[in-house]
Amino acid sequence: MIRITELALPLDHPEDAIKSAILKRLNIKESDLNDFTVFKRSYDARKKNTEIKFVYIIHADLKNEAEVLARFEDDHNVKVAPDTDYHPVAQAPEDLTERPIIIGFGPCGLFAALILAQMGFKPIVLERGKEVRARTKDTWALWRKHQLTTESNVQYGEGGAGLFSDGKLYSQIKDKKFYGRKVMSEFVRAGAPEEIMYVSKPHIGTFRLTGVVSRMREEIKALGGEVRFESKVSELDIEDGQITGVTLANGDTLKSRYVVLALGHSSRDTFRMLHRKGVYLEAKPFAIGFRIEHPQSLIDHVRLGKYAGHPELGAADYKVIHHAKNGRAVYSFCMCPGGTVVAATSEEGRVVTNGMSQYSRNERNANSGIVVGIYPNKDYPEGPLAGIELQERLESNAFLMGGEDYTAPGQLVGDFIKGVPSTELGEVIPSYKPGIKLTDLAPSLPNYAIEAIREALPAFGKKIKGFDQDDAILTGIETRTSSPVCIKRDDNKFESINTKGLYPAGEGAGYAGGILSAGVDGIKVAEALAKQMMADLKGE
Ligand code: FAD
Repeated sequence: MIRITELALPLDHPEDAIKSAILKRLNIKESDLNDFTVFKRSYDARKKNTEIKFVYIIHADLKNEAEVLARFEDDHNVKVAPDTDYHPVAQAPEDLTERPIIIGFGPCGLFAALILAQMGFKPIVLERGKEVRARTKDTWALWRKHQLTTESNVQYGEGGAGLFSDGKLYSQIKDKKFYGRKVMSEFVRAGAPEEIMYVSKPHIGTFRLTGVVSRMREEIKALGGEVRFESKVSELDIEDGQITGVTLANGDTLKSRYVVLALGHSSRDTFRMLHRKGVYLEAKPFAIGFRIEHPQSLIDHVRLGKYAGHPELGAADYKVIHHAKNGRAVYSFCMCPGGTVVAATSEEGRVVTNGMSQYSRNERNANSGIVVGIYPNKDYPEGPLAGIELQERLESNAFLMGGEDYTAPGQLVGDFIKGVPSTELGEVIPSYKPGIKLTDLAPSLPNYAIEAIREALPAFGKKIKGFDQDDAILTGIETRTSSPVCIKRDDNKFESINTKGLYPAGEGAGYAGGILSAGVDGIKVAEALAKQMMADLKGE
């Protein structure tokens, strides 16, 4: 297989233009091309006012591969394609009696379970929240009726935190083994659109993701795995530094010497339990800030110029960063084109925001988190759980500022920059459900964060004209940008550094940030666990 990179074609090219371009690029006859696949398609928007083109990476199966490679020896855009297929690392024996346990059924737990099931290890998944349909109902009750269900919400339940999301499926992780392709191909097999395999910034959107996740759960079960909902793990059973099993909130116990911890970043009671049990964890950096909303048309216009609204490009995204004079970095986080801002709390008496969108991304507003990086030694030096405590304080205060019914505090950008409370909306209508209360957001975050965001917004306005327009909306607050703790693990064996058989994984453990990287981490941990189980079986 040959890989051709940098193959450029106009945005509106017909389907068969790709084949013609390959034949021309390699100077071969049609009969010499057995087959080809589009490995990646991106576009370069720097020439937005002249011509935006698609740029392809193609994998081509040729009759005379050696001859073509020799001819293009000095051309770095024509090379042998890497092996991107997934190869399982183990196969469990038929008579395996001990079953691995996976705590959490977000993207990390989902992929850990799927990979283990595909290798014959018949995992048992324990998920504190409900299955996808019941969970959707509970989540909408918060957004529509101000009613929170603490064990079934945006953070907890089948599919994890990524279920009600934009479903962005890209990440900047290094992925030499192409685990990301495995994640994508499993999503496609379960009903996600085929294009996620090749577009440079794929996304599924929330409604499609729900169907995909439930079909993957059925596959895990068909392979002999089990998925138990409403099964919160309240204790880890540890003897002499070795995990021996888990105890559920209802008192049930399960035995296993192999447990994956795929908790997500919001399971604060479980982090506290881990700390109490002596599992090593430490505070890590995360970020705090607000959600900002603009008309999507403004972002499309600035980012895509005359191509704004082009059906092949969809709603435009952005990424901004500013280094403030007080030493803080302010940056956009989890940008959702054509989406909505959502209430993302899992705890009573707290307000926290996030963003989501549908596959079509056709809501009127663009939103993103505008957040400030914060650090354990500097901002919350009081021990491993201090980041959690800071999040709790800020989220409780935001709840009070919103009026104590999950309404979020909000402010117009112009007023925020001037430091005066907002009293009236402009043309940008906030999308946050269950609603916002206009106020002064300054008391909602530490001073250094307010100062840095105040400085950053006009700076962003220089990069994206209109970003700091007076009636853009800020909704408070964003605190769960990533996990406030890291559950330290060994770099090679992926086990906790002080608890044998315990595999911290995904976002909650500090080893992923986003759906794709959490899925990839689930695969890595499943492989490490499977290898260890096989070695233990052989007595190695
Ligand atoms: P989670 O998805 O958080 O899953 C952890 C699971 O563990 C949960 O279901 C929880 O109920 C369960 N659990 C926790 N404790 C226990 C316990 N004691 N017992 C049993 N079960 C337990 N990322 C993107 O890449 N793209 C996006 O577009 C995107 N949008 C987002 C939008 C929203 C609204 C939110 C909240 C997040 C979004 N994210 C997005 C982030 C993404 O969802 C997370 O990075 C990802 O889900 C992390 O995966 P995970 O499996 O590590 O953890």
